[in-house]
Amino acid sequence: MRRLPVFLVVDVSESMAGDNLRSLQEGMERLIRSLRTDPYALETVHLSVIAFAGRAKTLSPLVELVAFYPPRLPLGSGTSIGGALEHLMNEIDRNIKRSSAEQKGDFRPLVFLMTDGKSTDDMDPALLRWKQNYANRVNLVAVGIGQYADLQGLSNITENMLRIEAATEQEFKRFIDWISASVSSQSRSVSVGEPSKVNLAKTDDSIMKKIDSIAQATAVDEDFVIVSGKCQTNKLPYLMKYEKMQQDVATRDFRVDASFYNLVGVYAAERDFEELSDPRVNARTIHSDALLGAPGCPHCGAPIAFAMCSCGQVFCVKGTGMATCPGCNRDINMSQSEGGFDVTRGRG
Ligand SMILES: [Zn+2]
Ligand SMILES: [Zn+2]
Repeated sequence: MRRLPVFLVVDVSESMAGDNLRSLQEGMERLIRSLRTDPYALETVHLSVIAFAGRAKTLSPLVELVAFYPPRLPLGSGTSIGGALEHLMNEIDRNIKRSSAEQKGDFRPLVFLMTDGKSTDDMDPALLRWKQNYANRVNLVAVGIGQYADLQGLSNITENMLRIEAATEQEFKRFIDWISASVSSQSRSVSVGEPSKVNLAKTDDSIMKKIDSIAQATAVDEDFVIVSGKCQTNKLPYLMKYEKMQQDVATRDFRVDASFYNLVGVYAAERDFEELSDPRVNARTIHSDALLGAPGCPHCGAPIAFAMCSCGQVFCVKGTGMATCPGCNRDINMSQSEGGFDVTRGRG
């Protein structure tokens, strides 16, 4: 039986924390449920899930639909699209059977690459390798999630680019249904002969926009600040996400334009956060005074998630008094600080 390999390459960078990641997690389950009702898909589709942030990792190796179980999506730091492509190409090399004189290999793989940000690595080497060896035998669909997704780099390796504005759960479900319909339609068309072009389902114009030009592929500037910390109790990472609010600050004497960031949420990450993160140190900093809202720790429930050690580590504390920094293991006497401090922003 010839297989139709389908790869979901999913951005799990910090900015995905919260609703987007949960929607994707639920979306995978919805996708599987729906594809399993399609006899053509059941016959041919094999599915793999690759997650990427600063680094990429295969969460589910290529397996037939009936044996597929949706993996838990992790979180990481950074958005290394070049790294994700390299990883995908290695997986294709390892897993895809090519046709030869003796045997028919797998059908042309179908890849959905989903990202909500801008690549933080140099994509050129990966793009070159893709163009030389993969472009003509893999169908890649690039999907930008939200207005901050920058697909410009991918515009010269695929003409299939979409942006979704999936603001609500309902809209996200429709997007997942579109992926499902596209996989079904492709599995049907390979069953009657190998098409040269991918047969995607008709896009749902109310939530998806087909991107035809490079200008459309460019993103607006990101308006999030993400700060990662570590729980003092269980040493696990967590992310605090802030969204920009533009406002004029008027005092009695003058007006200034200032950017403040409001707390959106705080999210627990797991031990594999480091594994998926870009090991390079991030130099972008923001002053803590610009961040409004102080969450508690999502791991241990300590009321202050935003304490900082002189080593730069952000961590959780229960209040003033002695604490141990989970970054450098130093004992520190926590007191209320006056001047605020500079914290490092996340990468992606
Ligand atoms: Zn904690
Ligand atoms: Zn420290």
